[in-house]
Amino acid sequence: MTDLEDVERMLRERLAQAKARESGLADALAELGAIRDANTDDEHDPDGAPVSGEWSRLAGIRYDTQADIAATEAALARVADGSYGMCASCGRPIAPARLEARPTAELCIACAERASRR
Ligand SMILES: [Zn+2]
Repeated sequence: MTDLEDVERMLRERLAQAKARESGLADALAELGAIRDANTDDEHDPDGAPVSGEWSRLAGIRYDTQADIAATEAALARVADGSYGMCASCGRPIAPARLEARPTAELCIACAERASRR
């Protein structure tokens, strides 16, 4: 069984890393957006399509990273209010192995499986 303080430290580290990644992606997207905007005047620019492909790819990663930040912040809030490790749906403890694999898990395995089938 992991100590709750360790969990909190790990979640804070995860949050800091995700936030750093997110701001790096935001910068990269702003840069690509500027390149793309500069290219709009030139319809024959061969770089136009690759830039927007890269932009979509980074925007997708950024979206996932923002979801990760939100999930990690929610997990930290549950650590603070003492509900961390309890299933948000049925209230039973979440298996430690699941929390180790997925520290931001909100649902126990049974409830998560039920939710994904909906
Ligand atoms: Zn449950």
